[in-house]
Amino acid sequence: MNMRATDYITPELLARYDKPGPRYTSYPTALEFHEGVDETDYRQRLARLPQGSETVSIYVHIPFCKSRCHFCGCHTALCRDTSEMDRYVDDLCTEIALIQNQLQDPMPLSAVHFGGGTPTYLPDAQMGRIFEKLHRTFDVQPSAEVSIEVNPAVTSVAQVSFLSSLGFNRISLGVQDFDERVLKAIGRRQTNAQTLGIIDAARATGFGSVNMDLIYGLPGQTRTGFDNTLKQVCAVRPDRIALYSFAWIPWIRENQKQIIESDIPSRDDKFAFFAAAMNRFMQNGYLQIGMDHFALKTDELARAASEGTLFRNFMGYTVIKSKNSIGLGVSAIGYLDGAFFQNEKANDAYGQLVQKGALPICKGLVLSDDDLIRASVITELMCNFKVDIPEFEKKWQIRFDSYFSEEMAMLAAQRDDARQGHELAFTEADEPLMLTDVGRLFVRNVCMLFDRYLKDKVESRPLFSRTV
Ligand code: SF4
Repeated sequence: MNMRATDYITPELLARYDKPGPRYTSYPTALEFHEGVDETDYRQRLARLPQGSETVSIYVHIPFCKSRCHFCGCHTALCRDTSEMDRYVDDLCTEIALIQNQLQDPMPLSAVHFGGGTPTYLPDAQMGRIFEKLHRTFDVQPSAEVSIEVNPAVTSVAQVSFLSSLGFNRISLGVQDFDERVLKAIGRRQTNAQTLGIIDAARATGFGSVNMDLIYGLPGQTRTGFDNTLKQVCAVRPDRIALYSFAWIPWIRENQKQIIESDIPSRDDKFAFFAAAMNRFMQNGYLQIGMDHFALKTDELARAASEGTLFRNFMGYTVIKSKNSIGLGVSAIGYLDGAFFQNEKANDAYGQLVQKGALPICKGLVLSDDDLIRASVITELMCNFKVDIPEFEKKWQIRFDSYFSEEMAMLAAQRDDARQGHELAFTEADEPLMLTDVGRLFVRNVCMLFDRYLKDKVESRPLFSRTV
């Protein structure tokens, strides 16, 4: 009988590798951003963006929600008053105009992603205004990926049709689980009928890709219940599935205190949920993409993974390789020419800044050469589960073994230490650094070895979610 990677996982292995760690949607992580990077630097880098064919991607943050889900770890605010949303959209349009002033010509735009919060909580007219402003400022490419995160409880079928008419072509539904007991335990108010109705509407109105977000490790989840959810997911057959581990950080996210700790599944159960999902998705024609994503083999994300051209940014895995990205709205993060920039996190401070003509940057980070080299290793591992060392050395003009002598020694020690079949990576001289099937399951742990900032962090309370 063929062994699957998940069959090798023992309780000791889980105990060894289940630790708090970043998801590496960026390296360095946002925890390293500081106030020394400001609006002046941002303006200069915007003005220096190359003109012509190089594309940029955009993230738009809509921070409002109708109610606060107990499990949520996002930057969001409750809002019952549409005039507050109207003012926010005014500020967002002003921010776009301020950016426009810095650009020489409309830049080609390859991707736009609306996240939140709950983007569909915005009235249609306000969503239309943002879209019109983006079209007037940027050269939105006909092939642009235009995507939106959707909470099925706060989205109507008519709205899906409106989004399609604006040009949205990808929709990601925050399903989390189909078990209504679990949805109740996490304060999520959608019914399964609503979720399925949105999916049907998206397909009927021409969305090219329907994605689903699931979370394992939620309060009240059981092996049987989660298995039923997996069956329903496979029956619906979304193009892509994101399968996240529940990030339990109540010391950072006050709303998670509504979850009773004893209702959270054990580490062994959590891994069993993950293993069941991974194995079922793979049996049903999905390819595992990086760490926590699955895509139908016909999907372009699966093709990019097979061809080694996958990329990772703040929104997760993507096929869009725009080097530069612009974050719009409160708390949004962008990346321009080797530097991260983050907008003000409080709505009031954000609004006051843009109204007086300032770009609302509160902090950021200019990457050093070492940051860029390590970011490149981590991206390769997260996307391709390997680092082609000869190619890497040519690109970065370093000797991999000597530059990463400490990291390679740690990997070798782990290999010697591990029982047969439990290695995370093969590390032969002058060969690519390859993750094993087990190493793919713990790719965040391998990346953590290459994270210079983690070595200096001695926190009394973990700042990241756990890796399992
Ligand atoms: S999970 Fe989504 S809908 Fe729920 S509070 Fe968080 S951002 Fe809002």
